[in-house]
Amino acid sequence: MSQAEEPTARSRAADDVGNPTATAGSSPSSASSWATTPAIRKTMLGNRSRDTAPELKVRRAVHAMGLRYRVAYRPEPSLRRTADLVFTRARVAVFIDGCYWHGCPEHYIEPASNVEYWRPKIARNRERDAETTAALTSAGWRVLRHWSHEDPARVAEQIAATVRAEGLKGGRSPGR
Ligand SMILES: [Zn+2]
Repeated sequence: MSQAEEPTARSRAADDVGNPTATAGSSPSSASSWATTPAIRKTMLGNRSRDTAPELKVRRAVHAMGLRYRVAYRPEPSLRRTADLVFTRARVAVFIDGCYWHGCPEHYIEPASNVEYWRPKIARNRERDAETTAALTSAGWRVLRHWSHEDPARVAEQIAATVRAEGLKGGRSPGR
């Protein structure tokens, strides 16, 4: 029953693990060193589906536009897939995909080490994303996917426009 009362959660800069190689600079040696210790890998895995800074920014902006949504919610419980923002009445499910974990074509850089571990992992994530989108779409949901690198304000505007349009379609015109 968490009808999201956002945005009280403070942005934690340390959570921005969207692309670990982004801060590695031009040094190949530093780029190859990330996630090579069990502790770092554990942190990254733990953060995968947790709140990230880009997602929080989008949520705040959407909230500021007066829209309410559920956070980390299953649009279709039987599908066991969790969307980042869910607008139940308009039937809109939003995913803010981390550039690293979801293999963003602009920002995903294959790590120099542990390739045999990461390559199939990222590939599976992408397959799963496509499956999720297809399954929700066929269940009557409008699915929006955005990369975490996108401008949060613009993403929020697109979300709001879609939610309002879908809400009107459903015949439950809010406030008219
Ligand atoms: Zn990206």
